[in-house]
Amino acid sequence: MNGKIRLGISSCLLGERVRWDGAHKLDRYLTDTLGKFVEYVPVCPEVECGFGIPREPFRQVGDPDSPRLITSRTKIDYTDRMNRWARKRVIELEKEDLCGFIFKSRSPSSGMERVKVYSEKGVPVKKGVGRFAKAFMQHFPLLPVEEDGRLHDPILRENFIERIFAFKRWRDILDEKQSRGNLVDFHTRHKMLILSHGPQHHRVMGKLVARAKEVPLKDLYEEYQKLFMETLRLKTTSKKNANVLSHILGYFKKYLSGDEKQELLEIIDLYRQGTVPLIVPITLVNHYVRKYNQPYLKEQYYLHPHPLELQLRNHV
Ligand code: SF4
Repeated sequence: MNGKIRLGISSCLLGERVRWDGAHKLDRYLTDTLGKFVEYVPVCPEVECGFGIPREPFRQVGDPDSPRLITSRTKIDYTDRMNRWARKRVIELEKEDLCGFIFKSRSPSSGMERVKVYSEKGVPVKKGVGRFAKAFMQHFPLLPVEEDGRLHDPILRENFIERIFAFKRWRDILDEKQSRGNLVDFHTRHKMLILSHGPQHHRVMGKLVARAKEVPLKDLYEEYQKLFMETLRLKTTSKKNANVLSHILGYFKKYLSGDEKQELLEIIDLYRQGTVPLIVPITLVNHYVRKYNQPYLKEQYYLHPHPLELQLRNHV
């Protein structure tokens, strides 16, 4: 990879004291663990939009589909001011080469989903999206986004981190000269990863790459990028992973001894039943890949999508 992954993040999650009451929302996993592999670009919409610390808190009020951003006690409507700032800020962020964004949950400015929207009578429904988060997701529809709270779920965490690493690799090939050869090579290395998310998407992408020569290069890259990021957004399941692992076994058929094959089959089955985590069959497969020097599998990102230190496949 060329350089570190750059990720946007709500500033308070890094421990910056920017909240309305002067507090922060430091998340140690994000700073101490994930922080070793990424470079954060902090954004605090409320402070950058000119509101001080401390400040009166905001809330979203009105129609859940188009709520207003209003100060909770004095009822001043700052929706237009925040929208103007957010539109400008997302354009500035284009220069940051971001591979994703981690938002602070529940915030009327930064929350990605289920933000409280109050009726005029003060009754909340959890249907809102933070003003800045909304502008960001509209401007960068393909970028992986998540919230601090959801990242405590092992499956969502694994999926998000896999996507930011994948997007970084995609950014890296965009930095090279665009060519059909580079795209085919990228696709080949990601085949098993794509298959683990969406077998149907895998077929569609395979067809796109197969007719690469007939599609104008720019359209090919654009279509591929969209399909790639849409596919990785789909959750993997133990059934999908077990199918990929069985598929991988096919590449070893002529090398593995009877015992080795049996052992791998048993471990895949234990994984399928939920007795062992994904890291167990993956470790065994990687062992055979090294032992038999299987060139195609050696290149598959599915077998090493992110650094082992993040221990992501120990819990899914
Ligand atoms: S939630 Fe967003 S607006 Fe609120 S303090 Fe954190 S970064 Fe700033």
